[in-house]
Amino acid sequence: MSARPDPPRAEDRPALSVVVPAYDEAEVLPSFAARLRPVLDDLLARGLAGYEVLVVDDGSTDATPVVLARLRRDWPQLRVVRLRTNAGHQAALSAGLARARGRDGVVTMDADVQDPPELLPRLLAAARDGADVVYAVREDRSVDSRLKRLTAAAFYRLVRALGGTAPAQAGDYRFTSRVVVDTVLGLPEQHRVLRLVVPELGFASARVGYVREARGAGRTKYPLVRMLRLSVDAITGSSTAPLRLATFFGLGGAALTTLLLVYALVSFAAGSTVPGWTSTLAVVAGVGTLQLLCLGVLGEYVGRLYVQLQGRPAYLVAGDSLEEGPPGGEEPREGPQRRT
Ligand code: UDP
Ligand code: MG
Repeated sequence: MSARPDPPRAEDRPALSVVVPAYDEAEVLPSFAARLRPVLDDLLARGLAGYEVLVVDDGSTDATPVVLARLRRDWPQLRVVRLRTNAGHQAALSAGLARARGRDGVVTMDADVQDPPELLPRLLAAARDGADVVYAVREDRSVDSRLKRLTAAAFYRLVRALGGTAPAQAGDYRFTSRVVVDTVLGLPEQHRVLRLVVPELGFASARVGYVREARGAGRTKYPLVRMLRLSVDAITGSSTAPLRLATFFGLGGAALTTLLLVYALVSFAAGSTVPGWTSTLAVVAGVGTLQLLCLGVLGEYVGRLYVQLQGRPAYLVAGDSLEEGPPGGEEPREGPQRRT
């Protein structure tokens, strides 16, 4: 095995990388591995030219590193990249993509078996038929909570209304060919939301449907606040249409003001001026709210510009099992701060 991943020798590189972000998933990782491995080993037996499963440990604070080290002992294709802090699902995916060695492409999937590993051969088959991107599309997500389904539906509708091209109900379970991975990595954007960036590149794509399963174990790492954050990032990251909101509100406001002025002048001329407390209050409150809203929208974009200008990385890698050699007997200590 080569000592460092970059630049890897072409002959050392497996055909496929499976990138799996994992944050506090110690409970579910053993069953995840037990389901994924037979699928991949079967593909190997049927001619796949090597694979690696790259689990990105997103700064877990539970026993995830210990469980991964244990799994690695008898699963040579399992590779663990550990991030220094909890960088978040999307950043962990980016970290995985940046380090993935798969020559032909990368499959990204969740660690909690909500993305069934058994679907993987169908993703690869669609890729062989000429697709550069293959989305696994959730046809039935009745196992997800009502809130989750409602917010997800609203999110995809909003994205499409703003001119985005993300296929509905495609999460981050997808195959992307090497050329797509390199294109994504070549973009300067650091804090990218992959499920919107990838469709916008316009590569030939295919979809494979599946039924969303329940989480194998553990609990969701996406409470409502995180979901909102992801939505705002996704929308401001892929469209400047919300900025135009301010212009539209401004135009609408101007039209309304003109009408009000005419009304006021006519009333004045007719000598029937009334105190008009209600309308004054409504106008002041309405305009104030709109101004705050527009400022907030502007603020989101200014914030993104600032973060991108600072140029801080979206994640920091603390270690890569590929650089540390084969698994030894000693287990890593628990806890997030195992610095190297
Ligand atoms: N995840 C991560 N970092 C985070 C949050 C989540 O790497 O900060 C991983 C998590 O371990 C899982 C995937 O992202 O493999 C999706 O998260 P989760 O299943 O909690 O989201 P949900 O399926 O509920 O939307
Ligand atoms: Mg999940």
